Formats: sequence, structure tokens, C-alpha cells
Amino acid sequence: MRVFVLDRNLSPLDPCHPARARELLQKRRAKVYRRYPFTIVLQDRTVEDSATHPHRIKIDPGSKTTGIAIVQEETGRVTNAFEISHRGQQIKNSLESRRALRRGRRNRKTRYREPRFLNRTRKPGWLPPSLESRIANIETWVRRIKKLCPITAISQELVRFDLQQIENPEISGIEYQRGELFSFEVKEYLLQKWGRKCAYCGIENVPFEIEHIRAKSKGGSNRIRNLCLSCHACNQAKGNKPVEEFLKKKPEVLKRVLAQAKAPLQDAAAVNTTRWELYRRIQLTGLSVEVDSGGRTKFNRKTRGIEKTHWTDAACVGVSTPETLLLKGVKPLVIKAKGQGRRQRCGTDKFGFPIRHAPAAKFFMGFQTGDLVKANVLTGKYAGTYTGRIAIRFKPSFTLTTGGRKFDVHPKYLKTIHKADGYEYAS
Ligand SMILES: [Zn+2]
Repeated sequence: MRVFVLDRNLSPLDPCHPARARELLQKRRAKVYRRYPFTIVLQDRTVEDSATHPHRIKIDPGSKTTGIAIVQEETGRVTNAFEISHRGQQIKNSLESRRALRRGRRNRKTRYREPRFLNRTRKPGWLPPSLESRIANIETWVRRIKKLCPITAISQELVRFDLQQIENPEISGIEYQRGELFSFEVKEYLLQKWGRKCAYCGIENVPFEIEHIRAKSKGGSNRIRNLCLSCHACNQAKGNKPVEEFLKKKPEVLKRVLAQAKAPLQDAAAVNTTRWELYRRIQLTGLSVEVDSGGRTKFNRKTRGIEKTHWTDAACVGVSTPETLLLKGVKPLVIKAKGQGRRQRCGTDKFGFPIRHAPAAKFFMGFQTGDLVKANVLTGKYAGTYTGRIAIRFKPSFTLTTGGRKFDVHPKYLKTIHKADGYEYAS
């Protein structure tokens, strides 16, 4: 993990080795600019005095966790990696609980309350808040990284598999001549189409094999329509038997397998709106955006012998991936989206009835809810040094959360080390 470097005018320079950053800080040639991700600002140099090299942001968007890697284009060095966990489920849950209270109120024996749906308009391009937050998180981080590092391009995994390559009849029949990449695309496609289950017995979470519905030795083709996923046991049991004979005792399974095999590609290829919207938005950064398939990512990762994590997957996105990726010593910065607090003016009491209240105060004595602080408590039960996040309380002590513990600390013992920015960090 390298340290981001800014010049005197806050223009990004090449990230440097932590030892170099330490040296610069000790010689007072640099100051700490930001704690997470660690960034220093040089006091004596401008971008004209030093050469910068092109870096690329690579993104593997996931529903729970998104991996981001920054790769130096010429050397293939992964300079920084991030793993962002989203709060999609949390947002969904709180919206659902609010909706449940609202519906509960309507059904109770009180005065009639009109249904409140259908009286709101949605802007074009509206997405459910849980999905919106995922896109916003990634967009935020792309913009932040762009300010800290000389970024020239972005790679994003857009689709699970390359549909065009599979659909093209010119190449779909000659899977094995096409080489490995093609079979990775086919495998990703089949995983999606057959729902990550064995087509014959429905078992999940086992290694799957590509199975020919009509055996190759009996004239079955390599076309995608003749392929399905099966577990090792089913594949062995079926051998080169015709599928009708193999599933003689399970006519309903036979019917389903044959129908599903014939289903057109579009049905199986669920278009992922979140990823397309992300693609649209990161294009607005003005950088050139390369997109590719998950099949390619997996192919790149396997051929380079790299272990699977969110950030290594990100480093392997796209055709532009260098032949050798230098991953040594890279530790991802683990980022957890925490939201920016709420602006709700109307909560509910324990019976679900609305109570209007002032918005929750977030600022007090120069501190803000969510600030990362260092606490040096001199006396009392909690004497000691801690780092953690605070929540503003007017006692006047604040609530400090540190290492799974929560207690009140007076602001006189606190020093802010990272201002609240909607995320929590661990490295
Ligand atoms: Zn099976």
C-alpha cells in the first residue's frame, strides 16, 4: 500500500513508498493532508518539478462489497487497493420498517387515513435508495481518488459474461479452439442461466462442470443451447446416456431442463441496472472508461495465478490488465459506508404514531457526529488512550465507540484525527 502525495498546490503526484513518506515527514518537507487514505502534501515542490505516470482505477462492483484497485499502467504495480462495503440492506430495512408503521397506522381503528402512495413523482432515472447508495459510494470514491493520484483511465466490470461473443454463431460452435477466455465466458454465462444450481439435482455451492445435454459422443454439439451446469456426481451418473433416459423417472425435471436449455439468451442474461448506471456516471468524470466482462476478470486472475478477493478481482478487470501485476505488500483499505446521518423531522413513538421533533444536532464544540478522534482520558474509570468514532451528546460528554465498547468522554480529552466523511475505516 503506497502513500498518496500531493504537491504544494494540491495537484496529485505519483504515490510513494511509506518509507519515503516517513522520511519526507521527518525532514518537514511534507505534512499529513488526510488520514484515510493516507495522503501527504509536499511543502516545497510543484507538479512541474516531478514526473507523474499514468495510473488506472479498476472497479469490480459488488452488491455488498466493491473492490477498487489503482494500477500503475507501465509497471503493473498495484499501488493502492480499497474494499468498500455498502449499506444497501440497511437502507432497505429502515425504509421497510417505516412503511410497515405507516401501513399499520392506516389499518388501525383510528380516523381514516388516505393511502399515501401514488402521490409522489419520480425523476427519470430514479433507482431504489439502496441501489442508489451503492452507486453513489463508488462514484464518491472515484472522485476522491482522482484528486489524490494522477489517474488517466478507469476500468469497470460491466457484465458477468460477454453475450456477443457467445451469441455469435461463427464462434460459439468452436468453443475449444477459441481457447480459455471463451470457456470462462461460457462458464459465467451458464452459472447465470442455470442459477448456480446443478441442472439435474439442484444442488448449490459445489464446483460445477460444463455438461453436454446431448452427449458429444452421440453427436451433441458444443453450442451454448446444448450446455448446462451439473455437479460432478450427476455428470458421472449421466455419462453419455441420452438425457431422456437419464431423467426417465423424473419427467418434470426433464421438461424443465429441456425448456431452460432452449430459453433465449436475453431471458437468462439479467441486465444489471446498477452497473450500467454506474458506467454512465463514471463516464461523466471525463476519463476514458474501459468496460469488460466477469469472464475476462476471472480469466485474467486465473492465468496470473492470483487468489480471489474483492480487490484482486478489481485489479484483473479489463483487457488492459498488464501481463504481470505486482501485488506484493498490498493491503486493502477497508471502507465501510456509514451514511451522513439523517435529516428526519418526524419519528414515531412506541405505538407508531408520528412525533415531530427538531433535527438531530450533529455539531458541537467543533466536533461532529462520526468524527474519528483520539481520546486521552486522564482520570476515572476509563483512564487511558483510545481511538474511535464519536456521537454528539449534550451532556456535554460525547459517546465514544472504540473496539466494540461505548462510553462517554468529555470533549476536552479529544483530538480529531479524521473528520466525519460518511465512511468508517480499518486497514
Ligand atoms: Zn447434480
